[in-house]
Amino acid sequence: MKYKLARSIEKFCIKCDVFFLKLFGYIDKDYTPIKCTCGNKELEDCNQDYLDGHILLEYDCRCKKCGKILNHWAYGYWEIWQ
Ligand SMILES: [Zn+2]
Repeated sequence: MKYKLARSIEKFCIKCDVFFLKLFGYIDKDYTPIKCTCGNKELEDCNQDYLDGHILLEYDCRCKKCGKILNHWAYGYWEIWQ
């Protein structure tokens, strides 16, 4: 029971987070990172993972200024920011 409650609070917080991040223009509708929480808009892709060396499967989006990983893209979708 305690665990369930903790999980639902966690889910609620992530939803709130995502709502505010969208509201303030940090992420797009599909969770594409637009700018870093440090305010920098220069982002770069890193940690690319390729299948057979040329089919892109996964990568991270990183802030060029502070180096924070903003989101992870895999198989066509962005993960929900946590
Ligand atoms: Zn940053």
